[in-house]
Amino acid sequence: MARKRRVVVTGASLAGVRTARALRDRGFDGEVVLVGAEERLPYDRPPLSKKLLAGEVPLSGIQLLSRDEADALDLDLRLGCRASALAPARRMLALDTGEQLRYDDLVIATGSAARMPTDWEAYAGVHVLRTADDALALRSALAGSPHVAVVGGGFIGCEVASTARGLGCDVTVFEPLAAPMARVLGYEMALDLAGIPLDAGVRLRCGAAVERLEGNERVERVRLTDGSVVPADVVVVGIGARPVTDWLSGSGVSVADGVLCDEHCATSVPDVYAAGDVARWHNPLFGREMRIEHWTNATEQGAFVARTILEGPQSGGYAPVPFVWSDQHGVKLQIAGVPDPSHRVRIVEGSVAQRRFVALYERGERTAGVLAVNSPRGMVTYRRRLAQDDAAEGPAGARFAARPVAQPGD
Ligand SMILES: Cc1cc2nc3c(=O)[nH]c(=O)nc-3n(C[C@H](O)[C@H](O)[C@H](O)COP(=O)(O)OP(=O)(O)OC[C@H]3O[C@@H](n4cnc5c(N)ncnc54)[C@H](O)[C@@H]3O)c2cc1C
Repeated sequence: MARKRRVVVTGASLAGVRTARALRDRGFDGEVVLVGAEERLPYDRPPLSKKLLAGEVPLSGIQLLSRDEADALDLDLRLGCRASALAPARRMLALDTGEQLRYDDLVIATGSAARMPTDWEAYAGVHVLRTADDALALRSALAGSPHVAVVGGGFIGCEVASTARGLGCDVTVFEPLAAPMARVLGYEMALDLAGIPLDAGVRLRCGAAVERLEGNERVERVRLTDGSVVPADVVVVGIGARPVTDWLSGSGVSVADGVLCDEHCATSVPDVYAAGDVARWHNPLFGREMRIEHWTNATEQGAFVARTILEGPQSGGYAPVPFVWSDQHGVKLQIAGVPDPSHRVRIVEGSVAQRRFVALYERGERTAGVLAVNSPRGMVTYRRRLAQDDAAEGPAGARFAARPVAQPGD
């Protein structure tokens, strides 16, 4: 009997599960092995900083794949083990259990890991937020309304601040730029939106970096580069994430802040692909490399890779318009495209004062990004314009003009 084709997916989370499901949806009847470092069944991460952290949903409510579903899809689910090395010449993946897995096609979906300065790790009371275990640990740390210091005013930091404040904690966000989210939204818009956390009672310490944490075994204080000191019982470090690629060293797979891929999400070695947070691929729509740490990209790229494995290179390549959402203090922010602090920002619907508006980020005559605040319908309307403008810049964009945006109902 002919040997069945085997697709091995490393990383049993959003991009990996989406790849496995899409392979089956497209009728693939070979073997699908899903290797995941975490012991838990795959779960969704956006609720970790929102409803799960707030205690509004249990872990069972954010599962991406149950045992029964894995069985029904005939997935060989290997949880609690890590891919440790790759030998493309022999088409072998080594696991940290000592097992060697042969593959015909391999998908790298090992995601990203939270950054943490090494000298901060030693203190009790210092948290990152990437996994369900991180979220459960932070949830118990937030009980009893402690003083919470959130280091980093990006999306995750701002969401943790929102949830912690909602739980009655005294919260300070430390951001070296002039306002939270300024790196993504630009100063003008970020300063306008800073009123949202301030009105909710969050303290903002912007414009000075955190120099160090202080305390004995437990963290007690945050010291800033401007010399000031702020007491803290709990510190949440939200200073970004790094792609998980260390296990690929020596494999011949090219890596540079992510797994380098062409427009078909194929890596530098044959029959090895990457999807999700870990992938840095050439987006033909923008004519440049991108690595995107957003939910929608992980799902879409996983599905794209599955299709490419089964049908070969897709015309136009993988050319999405980036999309991300964030929920903070009861306000929903949605961003499409690639807004840049250098762009001109124009509010085209609603107003900042109403906390319901749509802003366009413009480069010359073109719309490069859309920010919708409490305006999902505005996002639908203006995202179309964004896609059309992108289409005007290159032939690949036309495919995406009318495509809906995937987003879970978290
Ligand atoms: C707290 C939080 C809130 C978020 N909120 C939003 C949001 O509101 N909106 C939005 O658009 N995005 C949000 N995101 C981002 C979104 O969740 C990620 O983009 C998405 O999870 C990426 O999926 P992934 O499968 O590529 O990677 P990951 O989710 O990081 O999964 C990778 C998996 O691979 C495993 N792994 C790592 N190394 C190995 C190895 N060597 N062998 C086997 N397995 C390995 C990891 O343990 C992990 O389970 C949020 C992320 C976090 C952490």
